[in-house]
Amino acid sequence: MFSNIGNKIRVLAKVICIIGMVLAGIVGLIIMISGFAMLGNRYTTGAGVGLIIGGLVYAAIGALFSWIGSFVLYGYGQLILSTQNLEKQFCETSTDSTFTPMQPDANVFGNVAPVHQAPATVECPNCHYINSTDSKFCVKCGCTLK
Ligand SMILES: [Zn+2]
Repeated sequence: MFSNIGNKIRVLAKVICIIGMVLAGIVGLIIMISGFAMLGNRYTTGAGVGLIIGGLVYAAIGALFSWIGSFVLYGYGQLILSTQNLEKQFCETSTDSTFTPMQPDANVFGNVAPVHQAPATVECPNCHYINSTDSKFCVKCGCTLK
């Protein structure tokens, strides 16, 4: 449901941007139409022209702001996406790594004692750097340690 959240946020940003622009356009148009309706009468023509200009400005500014507002959300989604990609790049090769003999057992606290490894260390699955068990990420490459 929340997988690929970066992409979802980016889509959401686009949808919000489009909705905001359309809404600003509609409201601006309504203001302009009511301005046009006032043009016929010479007592309200001045106000009508003001409403038409106001409607135009409203639509332009409204569209602009929903566009700018979506930047932040889109950028956030992009950030998550690139972070995920980065994580994949670092760690994906490790999952099907053939370099297993030195890999300590995941449950070092269980009864299976690692043969080649002191219990106080955990080897990075990506770069095989030896980290202490209390570190969550590899000191050398930043890959998540299990
Ligand atoms: Zn590493």
